[in-house]
Amino acid sequence: MSHTAEIISVGTELLLGNIANTDARDISQMLSELGINVYFHTVVGDNPERLKSAVAIAKSRADIIITTGGLGPTCDDLTKQTLAEAFGLRLIFDETEAREIRDYFATRLHSHQMTDNNYQQAYLPEGCVPFHNDCGTAPGCAFFADGVHVLMLPGPPRECVPMFRQCAMPYLRRLSDLELVSRNVHIFGLGESFVEDKLRDTMLRLENPTLAPYAGSGEVRLRVTARVRTDEEAEAMIAPVLREIREKIGNCVYGIDTGTLENTVLLLLKERRMTLASAESCTGGLVSKRMTDLPGASEVYIGGVVTYAVSSKTALLGVPPELIEREGVVSRAVSEAMARGVRSRLASDLGIGITGIAGPSSDESGTPVGTVFVSLASPEGVFTRHLHLGHDRDRVRTGAANHALDMVRRFLTGLDVCEWEK
Ligand code: ATP
Ligand code: MG
Repeated sequence: MSHTAEIISVGTELLLGNIANTDARDISQMLSELGINVYFHTVVGDNPERLKSAVAIAKSRADIIITTGGLGPTCDDLTKQTLAEAFGLRLIFDETEAREIRDYFATRLHSHQMTDNNYQQAYLPEGCVPFHNDCGTAPGCAFFADGVHVLMLPGPPRECVPMFRQCAMPYLRRLSDLELVSRNVHIFGLGESFVEDKLRDTMLRLENPTLAPYAGSGEVRLRVTARVRTDEEAEAMIAPVLREIREKIGNCVYGIDTGTLENTVLLLLKERRMTLASAESCTGGLVSKRMTDLPGASEVYIGGVVTYAVSSKTALLGVPPELIEREGVVSRAVSEAMARGVRSRLASDLGIGITGIAGPSSDESGTPVGTVFVSLASPEGVFTRHLHLGHDRDRVRTGAANHALDMVRRFLTGLDVCEWEK
């Protein structure tokens, strides 16, 4: 049976716009991992009457109700009392939770005096499954009544999200004998609409597994999701879809469940036992940042230099001033000299050079904003992409770094380094 959930977030500060409802966002994402449909997010203030009416509406259209917030010890924390009343349940003092709250104060909150109202949090609806709170004092809980599963979680995200993972997810998993298994297909070099167009028929045809696209910072991700009983079943159902995607999208697929381009590059460099260095101008060290975000990158990523002003390209990379004078600082010749320069000065197998105009305005040469040259110096010669990446400064920089990493990825997998959709 498939389930439908509604999230009711309780808190006047959400209605006033003082805080964003990140709990509902995060819980929705985790529910989608479980294959549970979410049809409504409701936000209601700290008001028992309005909360009761929100619960009555949710009961009529969902079989799982998840509340966030209002489990604390203060007088505006009314979720438990209101939900218990709405389902005709008594609140019962839970000795174990009371002890946990006392221990939490003794061991974690030395500077805080425990007051009587803290014990209020140990009252839970009769017959419920308590959700212990490792990151705070208010326990959550789940109960089944009137044909509905009700789960209550604390409001602070650092308590709500771990409790959902540790307690609510196992509870919800037991409601269904099917589990959801997903594979993420990572694509670079093709636009989202192009990918959708190529795969539209497949997406419309498929029901289980399903295929859905997600776009993000210059890349496209596809998610193949199967509702299954066993992992073997998932493998058998997903494999033909992955094959079909590879046939239609080709080598712009850079990985399955590999995370990011930089992660793919890191794995390939390690596999091939090759090293990389980078010289960046308009990206200001973005390639370095992304490579060094990965633990263990020092094995293969030697280092990078940010040569932003013209003089630093000469001083640090040995780019001849007359070349810069003649060709312009944003040119094929300069990006190639930067790639060669950093490769030779840092003695790496591969060297990246990036020079371009991230905007918002052009330089005195009149080169259009968004023009970027990205070069890769390798033992087999130097490869360069001449790119036009639009007018948005962040997108130009992210796009240029993506292209640099994609060139390394293509070189290391024996593909045409300069091929991509223009
Ligand atoms: P506490 O014991 O801290 O009072 P609680 O369960 O009673 O926890 P609330 O009093 O409703 O939770 O909210 C406490 C804080 O948690 C809010 O001030 C807010 O910073 C954060 N918070 C509450 N609900 C949400 C939400 N839906 N999304 C993000 N943050 C939230
Ligand atoms: Mg509170």
